[in-house]
Amino acid sequence: MMGRVYLVGAGPGDPELLTVKALRLLRSADVVLHDALVTEEILRLARPHAQLIDVGKRAGGKRLDQTAINHLMIECARWATAVVRLKGGDPLMFGRAAEEMAALRSAGIEFEIVPGITAAIAAAAQARIPLTDRDGSSSVTFVSARHAFGKSPKAIAELQTADRTVAIYMPGGSYREISRQMVASGMSAETPCLVVSSASRSNQQLLWTDLAGLPSVATPEAPAVLIVGSVARCRDQARLAMLLGGIPEAIQATT
Ligand code: SAH
Repeated sequence: MMGRVYLVGAGPGDPELLTVKALRLLRSADVVLHDALVTEEILRLARPHAQLIDVGKRAGGKRLDQTAINHLMIECARWATAVVRLKGGDPLMFGRAAEEMAALRSAGIEFEIVPGITAAIAAAAQARIPLTDRDGSSSVTFVSARHAFGKSPKAIAELQTADRTVAIYMPGGSYREISRQMVASGMSAETPCLVVSSASRSNQQLLWTDLAGLPSVATPEAPAVLIVGSVARCRDQARLAMLLGGIPEAIQATT
């Protein structure tokens, strides 16, 4: 009898942001194949004798490639009853789930998806900003920096609408380029930007800026997600400034 594979979202890092189902599966799985993004705190919730395999780790400078991960997952399902394939955030968001599902289907292995809280959603919650807003943003786009900014100028132009929020995954190393291309495509240099690194973890950092200031933000440690759009202005900071009596011009202009 073949086991069942669960593609499970581990959320952004805080174990309290796991779903009840993710926690239950983690506590009962025989094998947990996890990515580098999954935190130690979450891995500690696994069953004491579960086999934990880090498939995101570099072995001898080389990372397991996707084919090797698929193969390992299938092999595990041949001897284990329940295999958890644990991914940071949500498994269907920039998580190569399509390849893994295709491999499981062709091996005839049953699988189930357990959603998790994706990085941009967690980042917005931590920063206490909405992702949509009745007055400012009617849609949200999730993009990976490599896809949107490495390739076609057309893709950037399509992102550029005044009332849209853009959540950019894997922005590290491309802040200058992102800023340049977004401004070149017609967006205002004053469009608010927020970088959240390690959302929901103890080393979380929030960096508030705008497209003009983005190239000079201190490069935050990975993982980080960048939110661009009018929703990304710092309301708490503006309120604090107001309480203190003086509203700095830069903030006043965006409130
Ligand atoms: N499936 C994941 C995304 C995997 S791609 C999800 O749904 O969140 C990896 C990228 O996700 C990172 O480069 C970063 O952009 C983002 N990311 C993941 N966890 C994060 C966290 N805790 N804080 C900020 N960004 C995070």
